[in-house]
Amino acid sequence: MKANDQEVKVYPAYIAGEWRFSESQETIAITSPWKADVIGRVQALTQDEVDQSIAASKAAQRVWADLSLGERGDYLNQWASELEKDKEAIATAVMNEVGKNYNDAEKEVTRTVDLIRYTVQEALHMHGESVRGDGFPGGSKDKLGIIERVPLGVVLAIAPFNYPVNLAASKIAPALMAGNGVIFKPATQGSISGIKMIGALDRTGLPAGLLSLITGRGSVIGDYLTEHPGINMISFTGSTKTGKHLSQKSIMIPLVLELGGKDPAIVCEDADLDLTTQNIVSGAFSYSGQRCTAVKRVLVDDKVADQLVAQLKPAVEALAVGSPVDDSTVVPLIDEKAADFVQGLIDDALAKGATLITGNQRQGNLLAPTLLDNVTEDMDVAWIEPFGPVLPIIRVQTTDAAIAIANKSNFGLQASVFTQDIDKALEIANAVEVGTVQVNGRPERGPDNFPFLGVKSSGMGTQGVHNSILSMSREKLTVMNLR
Ligand code: NAP
Repeated sequence: MKANDQEVKVYPAYIAGEWRFSESQETIAITSPWKADVIGRVQALTQDEVDQSIAASKAAQRVWADLSLGERGDYLNQWASELEKDKEAIATAVMNEVGKNYNDAEKEVTRTVDLIRYTVQEALHMHGESVRGDGFPGGSKDKLGIIERVPLGVVLAIAPFNYPVNLAASKIAPALMAGNGVIFKPATQGSISGIKMIGALDRTGLPAGLLSLITGRGSVIGDYLTEHPGINMISFTGSTKTGKHLSQKSIMIPLVLELGGKDPAIVCEDADLDLTTQNIVSGAFSYSGQRCTAVKRVLVDDKVADQLVAQLKPAVEALAVGSPVDDSTVVPLIDEKAADFVQGLIDDALAKGATLITGNQRQGNLLAPTLLDNVTEDMDVAWIEPFGPVLPIIRVQTTDAAIAIANKSNFGLQASVFTQDIDKALEIANAVEVGTVQVNGRPERGPDNFPFLGVKSSGMGTQGVHNSILSMSREKLTVMNLR
């Protein structure tokens, strides 16, 4: 059925404990990337509504922080159960809004349920420590330091479009368990999914005002949020451009940034090419490459490059391309502008002499998975994150050359190394400047109990359940001067 304006649902925002339409009387149309229809409208909140939300969160946070960990955990476990009940509706919203295929959207919700429950357990098992002063020269045993973790206050959680549920919950759950209030700013394209997941949280009876959901364009409301004196910590996932902007705007508050990547798959002469092919193809092309940890370049030893390309070509051509409702792997990109950007990278590479192995066809924002061989360092696709289904292959003569090209990138999220030689794997893992190295596997963010971080322009600080709780709390020292 084609939606028209009468049928389009207008979603309220969740401000200071109430579902409300904005005083601005302005809404933002959310267009599906694959239905090419407006699927809903969300509120463009005002600065005054941001102020109200932050003030309410600050007030509610003090009471929340006084609850026991177990009581806070009960709310979160109930949230997980509510999300589970709503799995189908939320997965459908994700599919419609950001074009993720239904299976993957459903997996995202399940992963989120698991993440919330794990976060509760992790927080329950974390504890402070005590220290005696006599460990320091001249210090006294009579000084007993009690070190506890306390909340930071109000956490601003900003999520990107590509995992609108999981990347939101991976900030909200640890923030709440650590005793904070939360201001959640979803990606505009991702707001409907965000509203549905917060609907599930609201049904737990969470104290009014503790969390608000701020919809509105980041370019309009983002700076006001970031610079707001009521915000005590920012956890951001998104592009490097926005992350850098944010780090210039925020003043003296802790910041965790998870940003873009250009993850290389380094393929050595002795790699198991079946395993390598399988990992590179799923790593590069699932959800059309719209993943921070997608394989975004292959650095292959020239001695096995022909064989690898011969195996990659049919595997890429076998990928299901089309609608997310048919569970396609390669789906329409988030919008036309994103598709133009990827096309520009392909055109630049071909004009400079890259070899087209397969792909380079386009229908609107649906791009065929594209494999480019003989990519050289003068081509933009060698360095820029496409966030789309194009994979450049750069042939190298030595492992050292692969490491040098890997490290020449401004990004440093993850890298994969394919080799059957454990010593070589460790040597390369040691040399590449990234947050995580995957040996004989594709780059990926999970499992969520692992630390997750990027270096250089890929980020600052560490996520992963344990580290997220740490980053959203601080140490507080009480010294007992005995006697
Ligand atoms: P984006 O354009 O940077 O947007 C991310 C979030 O920032 C959105 O909520 C956006 O809101 C908001 N925003 C925009 N301008 C802002 C401002 N001035 N102040 C505060 N917030 C602002 O990124 P995206 O296109 O959604 O996501 C794709 C990028 O995220 C890719 O680069 C990908 O690699 C990266 N990513 C990284 C990770 C990781 O963990 N390292 C994971 C997933 C994605 P609006 O939507 O309203 O503009």
